[in-house]
Amino acid sequence: MTHIPGIVITGASGRMGQMLIKTVTDSDQARLVGVVERTGHDWIGQDVGVAMGGPALGVIVTDDPLEAFAQAQAVIDFTAPEATLEFAALAAQARCVHVIGTTGMTDEQIAALEPAARHAVIVRAGNMSLGVNLLVQLTKKVAAALDEDFDIEVIEGHHHHKVDAPSGTALMLGEAAAEGRGVKLSDVADRGRDGITGARERGAIGFHAIRGGDIVGEHDVLFAAPGERIVLRHLATDRAIFARGALKAALWGQGKAPGQYDMVDVLGL
Ligand code: NAD
Repeated sequence: MTHIPGIVITGASGRMGQMLIKTVTDSDQARLVGVVERTGHDWIGQDVGVAMGGPALGVIVTDDPLEAFAQAQAVIDFTAPEATLEFAALAAQARCVHVIGTTGMTDEQIAALEPAARHAVIVRAGNMSLGVNLLVQLTKKVAAALDEDFDIEVIEGHHHHKVDAPSGTALMLGEAAAEGRGVKLSDVADRGRDGITGARERGAIGFHAIRGGDIVGEHDVLFAAPGERIVLRHLATDRAIFARGALKAALWGQGKAPGQYDMVDVLGL
């Protein structure tokens, strides 16, 4: 037996799935022990390295998550909300740390993770990068320091394949701004203006989504007052930052008490 944690990657063929497989196989702190894709996917039954167009890695793509999770200490999951809920129950059954990067989950879906978190460690974050998690902290601080003379707008940009808006990261930033101001985001969020909207409401936190090309992820938090503006900005140019953060979370979660955590816990911010 080796003490190096075994990791399963779900959504193996996805943009993040492939980046995660590369990150785990390049790491000397973790072993890739399984990869999962949805039933019917043409990668099922193939060696994942070959399916990715490279040398064999000795790991066969499966559509049986429980069998894969049983061999592992952690599951890194960047897929889709319904799949993530199913994986949470199975990861808890296998007592694996479940790192969730999937975004676009509803409040009900997030609440449905709770039974799994009673038995296993879940680390969930809409953005796993160090830079964005720092930006979240800065946003909270700046929002707390400024009054409602400063209008807050969160502007995000992503590639044209992205299916949810605003991004999970934009929502994290909005939550941080709301927390800094001591209000509930759901009471002040103003999402996607169009048409004769009337003047901007004082205290609102606005969200805007740009979709185009291969943008990896860009986020601005704008604080605009008469006569001055502050812009906090993060630009992601490489998905590897999310994969490295996710692997860090999988390693950090080993031996922790069951419960729900986020990247602020992992990074100790
Ligand atoms: P993608 O569409 O390229 O990949 C998703 C993969 O999940 C696909 O391979 C799909 O086949 C697979 N999948 C779907 N249902 C499945 C199931 N039931 N079983 C197994 N596999 C299944 O998408 P992507 O760009 O890789 O993004 C995936 C998710 O990660 C999105 O929600 C995205 O917003 C999020 N994301 C999060 C971060 C972060 O840091 N938290 C960063 C980037 C992307």
